[in-house]
Amino acid sequence: YQAKQEGRNDYRLFSKHMNHQQHKLLAMETALRYAVETGEGLSVHYQPQVRRDDRSLAGAEALARWHHPDFGPVSPAEFVPLAERAGLMVPLGMTLLNNVASQQRRWLDQGLIPVPVSVNLSAQQFWQHNLLVQFRLLLAEHRLPAGLIGIELTESVLLDKQQQAIPLLYGLRELGFSIAIDDFGTGYSSLSYLQDLPVDTLKIDRSFIQRQESRSSNAILAAVTGLARELDYKVVAEGVETEAQMETLTRYPVDLIQGYLTGRPVTADEFAERWLSKQTC
Ligand code: C2E
Ligand code: CA
Ligand code: CA
Repeated sequence: YQAKQEGRNDYRLFSKHMNHQQHKLLAMETALRYAVETGEGLSVHYQPQVRRDDRSLAGAEALARWHHPDFGPVSPAEFVPLAERAGLMVPLGMTLLNNVASQQRRWLDQGLIPVPVSVNLSAQQFWQHNLLVQFRLLLAEHRLPAGLIGIELTESVLLDKQQQAIPLLYGLRELGFSIAIDDFGTGYSSLSYLQDLPVDTLKIDRSFIQRQESRSSNAILAAVTGLARELDYKVVAEGVETEAQMETLTRYPVDLIQGYLTGRPVTADEFAERWLSKQTC
């Protein structure tokens, strides 16, 4: 009884000094921990990436979704940083990756023609122990051919420890994963670092697409797409919302478009129904 009472007093003391926001964060962290353990409320949405020239499907990005009974839908912009702080990002990332890999397997088994799906890797995931082993196992467990899963990394993940990143990137590529640099242009963006990194795709951040009237955005678009062409990277323009933005992009060597104009993120079933076609033989 004594211990219990002490416990309660501790809690009171603790709670008195916590403001509302901290309470909510703590409650969310507990809920997220439960979601990661059980998979409950977690899902993946798929956003199409289409070819600029004919808007045909070329791939998709997997985007994490979390729906909690009390908190409602929580944005990944909120729960991914929360997961990182709480040390939950590695197990959460594995849950999402397995979700995507088993979905791809299901689509193959249903006779649908799959497209490469790219997943976002946060710093903690990229630098996790045994990354290459985990990714090799992922393909083996789901019997997935190489090339159906891509990886998106931001510049900041790579730049912190660039020298250590290079062999990991080569390892991932050898396993058949393609690599994209996400939110390109928003980080440190010393362009010269690119030439040492084995990457396949640059995803130009939507801030440069959506502020196209400004001269500086146009200059950045011209520089980035020009450089990408020189270095043989594929270029994805992110966050394209209007035909006017699409029109501007025809002036630059951009390969793929990902944005609300050409397709919003949708559930796996909707994605298959709207975007995937049947194998004919
Ligand atoms: P991101 O990787 O840059 O993903 C693109 C975000 O832009 C998505 O937001 C997508 O819904 C949104 N978007 C797509 N087209 C448009 C458009 O035309 N206009 C506008 N305004 N937005 C558009 P979402 O799904 O809320 O994800 C936010 C961020 O959370 C992602 O940014 C990514 O950094 C992170 N995230 C999402 N899923 C995962 C995941 O599975 N793992 C990790 N580590 N991070 C994730
Ligand atoms: Ca991304
Ligand atoms: Ca992005």
